[in-house]
Amino acid sequence: MKRRDFIKQASVGAVASASIAAPAIVSAKTKIKWKMVTTWPKNFPVLGTGANQLAKLITEMSDGRIKVKVYGAGELIPAFEVFDAVSRGTAQIGHGSAYYWKGKIEEAQFFSTVPFGMNAQEMNAWLYYGGGMELWRESYEPFGIVPAAAGNTTVQMAGWFNKEINSTNDLKGLKMRIPGLGGEVLKRAGGVPVNLPGGELFTSLKSGVIDATEWVGPYNDLAFGLHKAAKYYYYPGWHEPGTTLEAIINKKALDALPKDLKIIVDNACKVVNQNMSLEFTAKNNAALDTLVNKHKVDVRKLPDDVLIKLKELSHDVVTELAAKNKAAQKIYDSYNKFYQQVSAWHEISENIYFNIR
Ligand code: CA
Repeated sequence: MKRRDFIKQASVGAVASASIAAPAIVSAKTKIKWKMVTTWPKNFPVLGTGANQLAKLITEMSDGRIKVKVYGAGELIPAFEVFDAVSRGTAQIGHGSAYYWKGKIEEAQFFSTVPFGMNAQEMNAWLYYGGGMELWRESYEPFGIVPAAAGNTTVQMAGWFNKEINSTNDLKGLKMRIPGLGGEVLKRAGGVPVNLPGGELFTSLKSGVIDATEWVGPYNDLAFGLHKAAKYYYYPGWHEPGTTLEAIINKKALDALPKDLKIIVDNACKVVNQNMSLEFTAKNNAALDTLVNKHKVDVRKLPDDVLIKLKELSHDVVTELAAKNKAAQKIYDSYNKFYQQVSAWHEISENIYFNIR
């Protein structure tokens, strides 16, 4: 510890106890090196590049006092070991999404997305101003991890189908790559959810191993060439209405930072959280235009009765998840209360405006 910091610490309490109790705060000139591990392949469009942007922002806003180096999935550790690596301090920061850790913390899925749940704007409002963030921190605390919202995919697409969906009967036996809670919903509708990594989607769909797949939205889907493997592109992405991406930070590493660097890390996450939503919005609309006008993709809406059925089943799946344990119930209660209120407000604001403009 530098002398000036020591004196500052000492002035607020007894000299002896301050020198023992003061945390290992790094001085203004110390260079800190952070490793960032991500669940995305290196430089993956928007998701991976968003993680790169977060690292760059922290590095540049701190004038190099924290240098963050990004590792793509598999470079330092496999994609699904990001949480553990940050928890034990192998890496100081990670970028991914909370539903990847459902094997460890089932209720973490509420901090990612739930079928027919809140969109990006509503999720952020709940997290920042509706008590969501406090619950999220509580949830990760036993693992020595501090979470922050750091991106959002916005509403995704229902996906690419080689079978027409005209009624709920068409969901029966449908082999679809759809992970997580959405997959559970499809299963209850009589479908067969399949979990496949992104890299296998194109060939599995093209060769008929699966009948359908969801991925992200027009921008990422176009990049994968999914329009060359399926006949129909259905909307809306009922299963992922606004998936929150997260930055997870090792608590000890964060606690060791002086106040100004803590503020920088927090605000860099907020900037990236906003930017990724905007980038998805800008690039999705451009890509949709390309898919429709250049590639003549058949874009279709899922029939209303299919959506109503999926919504009913989603309600069952989500309330069952909430009933699993006390923490899950507490998060669900907070989420649901906010969801009901914000829906009433958006009904007479965003919704009516969207329909009339
Ligand atoms: Ca998806």
